[in-house]
Amino acid sequence: MDIKDHIRGIPDFPKPGILFYDISTLLRHGAAWRTAMARLADVIRPHKPDMLAGIESRGFLVAAPLALELGLGFVMLRKPRKLPGLTIGLNYALEYGTDRIEMQADAVQKGNRVVVLDDLLATGGTLAAGISLLRQAGAEVPCAATLIELSFLGGRKRLDVPFESLVQYD
Ligand code: 5GP
Repeated sequence: MDIKDHIRGIPDFPKPGILFYDISTLLRHGAAWRTAMARLADVIRPHKPDMLAGIESRGFLVAAPLALELGLGFVMLRKPRKLPGLTIGLNYALEYGTDRIEMQADAVQKGNRVVVLDDLLATGGTLAAGISLLRQAGAEVPCAATLIELSFLGGRKRLDVPFESLVQYD
């Protein structure tokens, strides 16, 4: 099965000139979604994670089923002020402006191997922030992974961990 057949590019979203890769069609197709999760599980397993982390919100859709598949726990990296209790956070630069992600301070144990996931890697800024925040919490990050990689943007060069993706666009 070719996972790419289930991903569509939508022009001019969220603004003119941007081609947005939409995973809704993949999610809607039970067999294709299941195959994508099984393949991602196969590339992540060798990195021997203790836990998985997903970046809000489409990263949750990837990380939560993978955690079930691998029999691991799942940690949420969320937008600001969404998580209860003591949190830690990290601001990171966007093309225009800044963003912030947060996690619960007690979500990981020191030295836990936590693989961080999102739906798509573009410039790499979001995943790089996720990796830094997990390290701040005491985790080791053996690998990062996404369903889709926009290879032409070179985002993986911004990551100082091995990176895995299922589908690439050049
Ligand atoms: P980056 O920080 O790597 O530049 O951007 C990646 C983030 O933006 C991810 O959280 C991803 O969900 C979102 N993103 C950017 N472009 C797209 C796109 O074309 N399709 C999808 N599904 N997400 C995108």
